[in-house]
This record gives sequence, C-alpha cells and structure tokens, in this order.
Amino acid sequence: MGDATLVWLRRDLRLTDNPALDQAARRGGPVIAVYLHAPEETPQYPPGAASHWYLHHSLKALGPALAQAGIPLVLRRGPALATLRALIRATGAGAVYWNRLYEPDAVARDRTVKQALRTEGLDCRSFPTALLHEPWAVRNQADRPYRAFTPFWRACRRQPPPAAPLPAPDLRDRPVPAVEGLDLAALGLLPRTPWDTGLRNTWQAGESAALARLEAFAADRLARYAQDRDRPAEPGTSGLSPALHFGELSPRQVWWQVMAAREAGVPEDACETFLSELGWREFAHHLLWSHPDLGDAPVDDRFGAFPWRPDPGDGWLHAWQAGRTGIPLVDAGMHELWQTGWMHNRVRMVTGSFLVKHLRLPWQRGERWFRDTLVDWDAASNAMGWQWVAGCGADAAPYFRIFNPVRQGERFDPQGRYVRRWLPALANLPDKYIHAPWTAPEAVLRRAGVTLGSDYPCPLIDLRLGREQALSAFQAIKG
Ligand SMILES: Cc1cc2nc3c(=O)[nH]c(=O)nc-3n(C[C@H](O)[C@H](O)[C@H](O)COP(=O)(O)OP(=O)(O)OC[C@H]3O[C@@H](n4cnc5c(N)ncnc54)[C@H](O)[C@@H]3O)c2cc1C
Repeated sequence: MGDATLVWLRRDLRLTDNPALDQAARRGGPVIAVYLHAPEETPQYPPGAASHWYLHHSLKALGPALAQAGIPLVLRRGPALATLRALIRATGAGAVYWNRLYEPDAVARDRTVKQALRTEGLDCRSFPTALLHEPWAVRNQADRPYRAFTPFWRACRRQPPPAAPLPAPDLRDRPVPAVEGLDLAALGLLPRTPWDTGLRNTWQAGESAALARLEAFAADRLARYAQDRDRPAEPGTSGLSPALHFGELSPRQVWWQVMAAREAGVPEDACETFLSELGWREFAHHLLWSHPDLGDAPVDDRFGAFPWRPDPGDGWLHAWQAGRTGIPLVDAGMHELWQTGWMHNRVRMVTGSFLVKHLRLPWQRGERWFRDTLVDWDAASNAMGWQWVAGCGADAAPYFRIFNPVRQGERFDPQGRYVRRWLPALANLPDKYIHAPWTAPEAVLRRAGVTLGSDYPCPLIDLRLGREQALSAFQAIKG
C-alpha cells in the first residue's frame, strides 16, 4: 500500500478538529486533500445558487490555509469513485479518508465508494464529526428514533460530553507529489449574472472567519442570547449556520466554546438555550435519517390530501418570493433573504407560516425557494423547518396555530426597526402602523410618503380571511 493518503473533503472545510485530516496525518506519509464537485451524484437534495456561492468562497479560503500546513488541495469535477481512482493512480495513495455526510443520497454514494475501494485493497475509512451524535445512535426506550425534540435532546444530554476538539495538522516537513487539479472558477459555483453583491457584503467564508465569529459571539452576545434571539432587528444570534453547514467549524468546537464561556461566567440559561439550538440541528438529522424523503413527503401523511390553493401562473408564490405580499414583516424577511442569503429564525417561521397557511401554498414550494436562496441551506434543517411551520412534521407547530404576522411584528420588532431596514419605502411610517400600513389613515400615509399599491403593495390577502380558510381546509383532512 502506498504511503500517501487522500482526504476527501466535502462539508468539513477546515483544518482544526477534522478527524479525517488528523487520522491521515497520523498515518504518516504525504496527505493530499481533494474536493470533488459532483452534484449529479446527490440528486435528491441538490444545493441551490446561494449555497454554491458560499461553497466557492469557503474553498477559496481553504486552499491557502491547507497549503500553509503542507497539504495541497486538489479540485476536480466528476463522479467520485472514478475521480478518486484516478487520483489514487496519480499519487500512489494507499488510503482514502473522509468525514461522514448524512443525507440519504450522499450516504448511498459513499457506501458504494467505500466498498469498491476496500475491495481494491485501499485503507478506506470515514469519521463522524458533522454532528454531536450519529443520527442512528440516539434511540427511545422502544429502541426507535425519537419523534419529539424534548426527549430526544434530553437523551443526548445524558450522553458523555463530546471529546475535546483536535488540533490542526502541521505537515510542512512532508514532501507531497504534484497532482493536477482544476482552478476553483472551473467548478462553476459562482453565478453568471452578478446578483451576489449583498452576499459579498454580508459574509466572510472560511475557517478563520468562522472561529473569529464564534469567539466574538461567545464573548459578546451569548450572555443575552435567551433574551435577544427572537428579535430580528438585533444581532442576537450567532450567524454560524453557514459555517456549521459547510463544516468550517464543528459542533463540538461550538460546544466547547460555550463550556468555556460558562466557566467564564456566562449564565447557565443562556448557554443551555444556545446549546438546545444545536440540539435542533441534531434532531433535524435524526429525522432525516428516519425519514429520507423529509424534504418532499409530510411526516404526518394526512397532509398528503391537504387542499392547497390553486395559484395560476404562480402569482402568489412569486409575490411571496419577491417580498411583495403587502405584509411588512413577511416582505422584510424575504428581502433580507434575497439580499444576504440568510433570514432570522423568527422571520423564517413567520414567512413560512404565511406561505403555507394564509396563502395555503404547498410547503414544498417554500422549501425549494429557501433551498435556492439560503447560504446556510441544509437538507435536514430546512426540511424539518418547513414541516414544522406547515404543521405536518414530527413535533411540529399544530396546523391550527397560525402566526399572525402583524402581531408577530408588534411583539418581536416593536419599533419596526427590522421592517424599516429591509423596506425603506415604509421607513417614515409611525411605529403604530409599521406592521399594518393598510390600517393607517390616508393623512398618515401621505405624511410618510407612502402610497399603497404603488410605493408598497396592498395586502395580497385579508389576514382574517386567510386564517379562516386555512382552518377550514385543515378540517378537511383532520382524522
Ligand atoms: C422554515 C425554516 C427553514 C430553515 N432552514 C434552515 C436551513 O436550511 N439551514 C439551517 O442551518 N437552519 C435552518 N433553519 C433553522 C434556523 O432558522 C437557522 O439555523 C438559524 O436561523 C441560523 O441562524 P444562526 O446561526 O444565527 O442561529 P443561532 O440561533 O445562533 O443557532 C446556532 C446554530 O444552531 C442551529 N440551529 C438553530 N436553530 C435551528 C433550528 N430551528 N433547526 C435546526 N438548527 C438550528 C444552527 O446550526 C445555528 O447556526 C430553518 C428554520 C425554519 C423555520
């Protein structure tokens, strides 16, 4: 067996706490990192344009960071197995290591690759690191997967704490064979028409930016997380979701940073609330593992017969996507999403609920739009989020609990700062009307420079009517 090791990187785009890299370094011999772009191999959950944009920038940061540690990054396109075989021939590698993914199509592909390479005599191994717990490892007393978050997370918390993060390898003294790869641009991850200015102004991809973001969050904002996390106008959450999705940092690095903050005096409840959000991420993968078609099929199969509203020409869907529904909190959220590739969690729930309940359009349409536009798009978390919003998931909000987007705005964005930021046309409306401009007297609208129907749309639907229609549609499928 050759002494070189290939490390097949996927969504573990970092040097620290990377078990596959660490084991490759321990094996001795040169280590060559490989990124293979083969979206056709994971057709069930293909990433969208914003996700590709982030991936490009994350790989761009990773190449030089790996090079500094003496590890070349080789970029290739093409089917994984054939491309790995070609690289094995070119480098004489005797081992291929990677960290695991958990989406069903990726799992099937990885299994095939592992079996084939092992049959050919390669030392082929995969490692857990994307989650705190393997999705199949946490089981209820009946030895079945959990369907509710609270007992699931309680069971997780009973497990021993995760191991301490691994240091980055330093292989500068190991000579490596020269291997041909593609330029990053050849992977075609960036958009052809430049719609990404807002994303560029918002995100800095890469491991060192992610670690800096984590440290700053733990030092400055974690202590107030429980109070601020639902206020979309505040920078109250960590903003770590794309970094966690692409593995620029690992959940156990986040875990240990929170533990250090707790030691340093950050209140227990803030730490626990934040860790439980990591728990939701774990739960999403747990659900996807037991429901591989979570992104398409409702967990509650009564919803297979739900009477969705016909939407000729997708007119309402397009208005929702473009942030032109006439409901300010919904529209502000959709503008934030389009401009930054991210949306605050509270607003994801409100925009999702409005689509599925007031507009009564299928949740899968919203899931697809988020898939295309979120930089943190994650098959498991997005599918779980949409099924939660639609009321058809495991441990979901019941369908009959319908968010009123005006009340949500008044409660979580009381001065309308979030709405004003993303909808400048409404900036001069008094707080009292900011979440429901159609209720403002004509003189108030005039003073604020708002003409409904031209500066800002009239509501697509009467909220009370939408709610009543949603409830009676639900009656039709209630068992
Ligand atoms: C309809 C809908 C779709 C969603 N789609 C995605 C998605 O595609 N990708 C994604 O990462 N999250 C998704 N979420 C969950 C959540 O909105 C984001 O994780 C969160 O807003 C990311 O911001 P943050 O990093 O500042 O979160 P923080 O509040 O700082 O939380 C820390 C981390 O915990 C995890 N997390 C937090 N909340 C959740 C949650 N409800 N479910 C799963 N993980 C969570 C994320 O990894 C996050 O980075 C979705 C939620 C809804 C309601």
